[in-house]
Amino acid sequence: MPVTPPAAPADVPPADAAMPQDFDALLHQDPEVAGILLAESRRQSSTLQLIAAENFTSPAVLAALGSPLANKYAEGYPGARYHGGCEQADAAERVAVRRATTLFGAEHANVQPHSGSSAVLAAYAALLRPGDTVLAMGLAYGGHLTHGAPGNFSGRWFEFAGYGVDPDSGLIDYAQVRALARARRPKAIVCGSISYPRHPDYGTFREIADEVGAYLIADTAHPMGLIAGGAAPSPVPYADVVCATTHKVLRGPRGGMILCGSELAERIDRAVFPFTQGGAQMHTVAAKAVAFGEAAAPAFAVYAHHVVAHARVLAAGLEAEGFEVATDGTDTHLVVVDPAPLGVDGRTARDRLMAAGMVLDTCALPYGDARGLRLGTAALTTQGMDEADVARVAVLFGAAVRERGDAGRLRSEVRELAERNPPYPG
Ligand SMILES: *Cc1c(COP(=O)(O)O)cnc(C)c1O
Repeated sequence: MPVTPPAAPADVPPADAAMPQDFDALLHQDPEVAGILLAESRRQSSTLQLIAAENFTSPAVLAALGSPLANKYAEGYPGARYHGGCEQADAAERVAVRRATTLFGAEHANVQPHSGSSAVLAAYAALLRPGDTVLAMGLAYGGHLTHGAPGNFSGRWFEFAGYGVDPDSGLIDYAQVRALARARRPKAIVCGSISYPRHPDYGTFREIADEVGAYLIADTAHPMGLIAGGAAPSPVPYADVVCATTHKVLRGPRGGMILCGSELAERIDRAVFPFTQGGAQMHTVAAKAVAFGEAAAPAFAVYAHHVVAHARVLAAGLEAEGFEVATDGTDTHLVVVDPAPLGVDGRTARDRLMAAGMVLDTCALPYGDARGLRLGTAALTTQGMDEADVARVAVLFGAAVRERGDAGRLRSEVRELAERNPPYPG
């Protein structure tokens, strides 16, 4: 049953821009910090945000984040708090949990993790003991820091085995996943990545996990918004635990969430609080509720499908510009390209793109140790770009990397394209 957010009462003025209503007061009291916030707002609206993990959250979400619920301590869970005065905090969390379980068809949701990494930490804490073996995508292929990086808790406390992708197709090699699972007998298998542009085959991951008696953890930090909008398959029927962020394609506040079946609900809840976190950030929990309400509306499904269509336009445009496109395209919001055919390495390409006003990351490529470029279309789509705009982004991207044409003109064309599609109109 889709959740329809109630219409705002008629006497509430519409929030019209990124800045909260009391921004003028901040400007007066603390011009130093206010100036930084204004400059950041201008940076976001005058450059193109191609970082695949970023998006523009709505004024309604920003309003919840800037609300007095930020003042409230609420350790524990609704109806069982360690602090008094939690009536509204409980109400906000109950709405967030109800909307999350409805939106994703899950039996249980925990909406308290402070971030995607906190969600993964809690999932490991619920299911594993230090020293256990975990099979996840190798860091060199797009595994996240929490999938066994030596500088992260995961790499220190668990034994990680890493699967990769086929070097020619760039696709996950399921025969290798199965062989590694049989050889290493992991306690958990993690599927999910920071740069894999295709859908994981959750059914095959489930089969492999069952064969070796492992838990299946889906880390869908990136595609959770596509899943919400029906533009990507859901891991919920297959995975024991689903970890995600709420701020990537899902377009909510910065934060994490965990979904699971009722049999693991208590273990997951205890692993979040008190095992890995203290008091939840209740203003963020309320903002998550707002974002889930937005994601349940039909307009969000349209958005999610546009994000994917735009990523395909971007991939095709970059291929035409001479870039090597990983997996020959995309099924998601992510496009990964290698600029090597243009005679430019990834870091140089990123620097040229940044100078032209296109903000993005480098990422690992599934072969050798060259760096590729990772782009996403979630933010461009939120600010209202259409396929023609995105095709133009690909041309500007190619021009910047090749240093083709006048640099000043290129920067102003990028600025115009961004400013024609303001993320916060008004
Ligand atoms: C982004 C991401 C995370 C972590 O999210 P943070 O909020 O930055 O901690 C974890 N796993 C994957 C696969 C991600 O893409």
